[in-house]
Amino acid sequence: MRIYKGFSGGLFYFVLLNFVKVIFTKMKEVKCEHCKEWTDGNLKICQHCGGILNEKYLVEKEEQEKVETGMKFPLIEIDENDPILLKMGKYVVRAGQVVFFAIVTAVAYLAAGTVG
Ligand SMILES: [Zn+2]
Repeated sequence: MRIYKGFSGGLFYFVLLNFVKVIFTKMKEVKCEHCKEWTDGNLKICQHCGGILNEKYLVEKEEQEKVETGMKFPLIEIDENDPILLKMGKYVVRAGQVVFFAIVTAVAYLAAGTVG
């Protein structure tokens, strides 16, 4: 009886775990913009037609990065492969930099307003 209870409990968690797994896998599925089929969002290319996934998104991201570098904000680079603590430290430094540049911009704006 005890063994049976333990088994059904284990089975319950096994089913629950798989259910959660399926949901997470489904969430990562994306619709291919080339062939309109659902494909694995973790991949860079479509499993059905081999087209590049999120092409539009990637282009937009690239454009955005170009604009950001064009602004010459010397923000600290955060590497995706950095250890979590280093990443957090960098985020703090970045926040400080953003605040600093916001103040500098505000002062510059006010100064320009006073002169003009
Ligand atoms: Zn496709």
